[in-house]
Amino acid sequence: MIIKFLRMFFLVEMIQGMLVTLKYTFSRKATIQYPEEVKQPSERFRGIVRLHRGEDGGPLCIACKICQRTCPQNCFDIEGAKDESGKMRPVRFDWNLERCSFCGLCAEACPTGAIRNSKEFRLSTPDRSKLMFHLSEMYSDYDLQKHFLGEKI
Ligand code: SF4
Ligand code: SF4
Repeated sequence: MIIKFLRMFFLVEMIQGMLVTLKYTFSRKATIQYPEEVKQPSERFRGIVRLHRGEDGGPLCIACKICQRTCPQNCFDIEGAKDESGKMRPVRFDWNLERCSFCGLCAEACPTGAIRNSKEFRLSTPDRSKLMFHLSEMYSDYDLQKHFLGEKI
C-alpha cells in the first residue's frame, strides 16, 4: 500500500513512460522518407525481370526462347534473327508484367544469364499499357520509374 502510494506520489509510471519516449527519440529510426529514400530489399528478393548485356555492351540474349517455354504464366513473346555477324539476337521481346508471378524460373533457365530478376519493387502505374514491355524497355539500364510514372516524376 505504501509502495503504491510512493510510486503515485513520485510519478514513477509517468517518468518510466517518458524515459521510453526519450529512448525512441534518440534511437535509430525504422521509418524512411519514401519515395525520396528507398530501402534495398533482401538478397533473396525477386523483382521485375530485366535483360542484361555482356562486357562488350552487346546483348547476352540469343533468342533461344527457353525463358518463354519455361514461364508458367506465358509472359513472353520472343522472336529472333541472325545479326550481321551471324549471331542469333532477339528482334522482338515482348514481356507482360501483368501476368508475372515473380517465380524466377525464366532467370534460372536462361543459358546465358541474359534475363535476371532485379531488385526493383516499385511497379505501380496509372496506365495499364505500361505493363507490357518491348525489347528496348527490357534492358537493365532502362529507366523504369520514368516508364511507370512518366511526367509525374
Ligand atoms: S518470373 Fe516467372 S512468371 Fe515472371 S516472367 Fe519469369 S518465369 Fe514468367
Ligand atoms: S533471355 Fe535467355 S532464355 Fe530467354 S531467349 Fe534470351 S537467352 Fe534465351
